Amino acid sequence: MSTSVLVINCGSSSIKYALVSERREDRIYGLAENLGSADARIKGITVGGAPLELSIPYADHEKALETLLGRLANYKPQAIGHRVVHGGTSTKAELLTPEIIEKIREATPLAPLHNPAHLVGIDATMRLFPELPQVAVFDTAFHQTMPAHAYRYALPKFLYTEHNVRRYGFHGTSHAYVSERGSELAGSFKQGGWLTAHLGNGSSTCAIWNGESVDTSMGLTPLEGIVMGTRSGDVDPSIHSFLASNLGWDIFKIDKMLNKESGLLGLSDNLSNDMRTLIEASEQGNEDATLAIEVFCYRLAKSLAALSCALPRLDGLFFTGGIGENSAYIREKTMAYLPHFGFKLNIEQNNTLKRGTEGRIDQGTGPQIWVIPTDEEGRIAKETEQVVEHAKKSESMVSFT
Ligand code: ADP
Repeated sequence: MSTSVLVINCGSSSIKYALVSERREDRIYGLAENLGSADARIKGITVGGAPLELSIPYADHEKALETLLGRLANYKPQAIGHRVVHGGTSTKAELLTPEIIEKIREATPLAPLHNPAHLVGIDATMRLFPELPQVAVFDTAFHQTMPAHAYRYALPKFLYTEHNVRRYGFHGTSHAYVSERGSELAGSFKQGGWLTAHLGNGSSTCAIWNGESVDTSMGLTPLEGIVMGTRSGDVDPSIHSFLASNLGWDIFKIDKMLNKESGLLGLSDNLSNDMRTLIEASEQGNEDATLAIEVFCYRLAKSLAALSCALPRLDGLFFTGGIGENSAYIREKTMAYLPHFGFKLNIEQNNTLKRGTEGRIDQGTGPQIWVIPTDEEGRIAKETEQVVEHAKKSESMVSFT
C-alpha cells in the first residue's frame, strides 16, 4: 500500500480506529469508548508501540474523531475507510456519495444496532475532512456471490421480493482476508474449496469456492448460525411464540435475550461470555462452563460439516478470530467432532500456535488445517485504496475525453 488509510469502525458509543500504512509494524490503532459519558476516553497504541490513554469527558463521535485526528496530525491519511456492517445487496466497497449514504440508511432496518452508528461516524468525518475521499466497506458484500439456494429462506416469496428478507452473511472482510491469505500460503491462491471459522465475540463460518463466498452461517442478521459470546445462534424460530404465550414476553425482551443474554454467557449461567474465563472455570470443575464449551465446539463442527455441501471439493479449513487464533484447546475439541472428511490434526503443531502466528496444523494428509490471524483493518484499508484509485482513474479518463 503506497498511502495511509484511516480505518474507522463506529459503534453506538465507541469508535475503533487504525491508521494503516505500508508496514504492519507502523500501524497506529485504538478505541474511543464510553462516548457521551463522563468516562469517555481514547485508549490505543501510537507510533513505535507506545500506549496512549486520553480522557475526553462527554465527547461525542465528532469530538472524539476531532481529538483523534489532532493526535494523528503528522500522519495525515490520504483516505478514510469506514467499516459498515450492512450494505444491503452492495457487492463491493463504494466511494461515499449521497446515494451510497442513502443506501446505508435504507439498510438500517436490517442492522438497527450497527448502521445508525456508522452513519453518525460518516457524518462526522464528512464534516471534519470534506477534502478526503471516504469509502464504505461492507461486511455483507463478500457474501453477495452466494447462490439463491443458499441465501433464500423457505418463506413466502413476497417477503424476499418486497421486503428483502434473505440471508446476507457478515464478517465478510475477515472471511475474505483469511481465505485469500490462507489459500496463498497453501499454494492454491484463491483456488479450490475452503472453510473459514471466524471465532470472536461474534462468530461465523463460511464456505469459499475459488475465492468467492458460496455460503455462510449468519443470515438476515448476525444472530443466525453458531454459538457466540452472548448471541444464541440457531434456535427453533418458534421460541418467539413459545416465550410470548408461556412467559408473556414481548418481542423486545425476546430479542434482547437472544442477542445479549444467550450464547456462552447464557449456557454458563451468566458466568462469562469470554472463552478464556470459561476454559479456566471448566478446568476447575464448573459444569456449566464445560457444557458451554462443548456446545460451542459441537455446533461449530456441525456448521462446518453442513457448509461443506456448498463446496465441490474440500481443500481445507482456516481458523481465525480471538478464539480461533489463540485456543489450541477449542481447535482440538472442534476437530474431534470432524473425523469424516479425512481431517487429521497435528496436536503438537496445534499447541504451538498463538495470536499473531500463522501456520499449518494438520498431519499432511487429507484436507489442510491452518490458523490464519485475521486483519480486517488491513483488508478495509486495501479495499479503500483500490476504490479511491479506481475513482481517480475514472475521473482522469472523463476529463481526458
Ligand atoms: P471481537 O469479535 O470483539 O473482535 P476477538 O476476535 O478479540 O473479539 O475474540 C474475543 C474472544 O477471544 C473472547 O471470547 C476471548 O476469550 C477469546 N480469546 C482470546 N484469547 C484467548 C485464549 N488464549 N484462549 C481462549 N480464548 C481466547
